[in-house]
Amino acid sequence: MAEKLQKLLIILPCYNEEEILPSTIKTMKKLLTSLVKEKKVSPESKICLVNDGSKDKTWEIISQTCAQDKMFAGIKLSRNFGHQSTIIAGMYSVDADLYVTIDADLQDNPECIAEMLKCVEEGAEVVYGIRKSRKTDSIFKRTSAQLYYRLLNLFGVDVLYNHADYRLMSRRAVETLKQFPERNLFLRATVPLLGFKTAQVYYDRTARTAGETKYPLNKMLALAWNGVSSFSIVPLRIVTFLGLFICFLSVLFLIYLFYRYSAKGTVVGWASLVTIITIFSGVQLLSLGIIGEYIAKIFVEAKKRPLFIVEETLNLDDKEKIKD
Ligand code: UDP
Ligand code: MG
Repeated sequence: MAEKLQKLLIILPCYNEEEILPSTIKTMKKLLTSLVKEKKVSPESKICLVNDGSKDKTWEIISQTCAQDKMFAGIKLSRNFGHQSTIIAGMYSVDADLYVTIDADLQDNPECIAEMLKCVEEGAEVVYGIRKSRKTDSIFKRTSAQLYYRLLNLFGVDVLYNHADYRLMSRRAVETLKQFPERNLFLRATVPLLGFKTAQVYYDRTARTAGETKYPLNKMLALAWNGVSSFSIVPLRIVTFLGLFICFLSVLFLIYLFYRYSAKGTVVGWASLVTIITIFSGVQLLSLGIIGEYIAKIFVEAKKRPLFIVEETLNLDDKEKIKD
């Protein structure tokens, strides 16, 4: 039992969260204090607020909090890099034994962290937070999410149903994640590729209590497409099969034409020609588009631009900072 307590880092990505941040800070402080008191984690554990280029007072709030309380650390990214890169920035910049990532609006029940730690005691290196239901979502979000998870599974992408980015990872899991150098991030599909012993905890997701969603439809669609195109080549394969199928159809059509011609039938109609040209142009453009999407991915990956750029850090000593 005299084992050394593990240092926990709770990472909260923050983008224009001034409205909700004060209450989030209070809740998280209470939670981590009790985890330390109950000797579940080491007293060096911290709550790391990562500012993703917010345009409101988010960074001011983070700075004030860090000045008053050593339990908090702050990371300021040089501009907006997006949710996925912000989580990564927290994990790759600070040294800890265990990392938990959770959204700053605390829609995902933070009380589950204690349960996650229990799974760690049982040997888990990755613990996924899974929503029990989607009651608090709009009908649109619920149905589109369900369809999307089905599609991903159909395309052979390994993701856990109703798991987003609320998870715990051990130091070893994070070190292994660093070996995945891709820029097109979709963490919920990359993390299952790590392997190791995993566990799941279940919770009810609540509605956002302040501020509005920072994931409007266009960002959500971009992330969704990233999930498909970065992890599955099935769309490209569909193009190939579609091409083969249409070639087969055209052979049949040629046979038919030949038959009409030899049977001295009427002149082949204009309408059928136009139909065929339209169908073929559509399929060709679609196929080119899909191939183009994948080439665009290669283009982005080839540039190897940094995933995030840290402008400033607060309450992190040299020992805690990870320099690459
Ligand atoms: N977020 C971020 N950068 C962005 C967009 C969002 O760091 O460009 C953060 C945001 O502050 C929040 C989390 O990502 O902590 C999830 O966003 P949100 O709660 O708005 O998404 P939703 O729950 O509506 O899907
Ligand atoms: Mg949210």
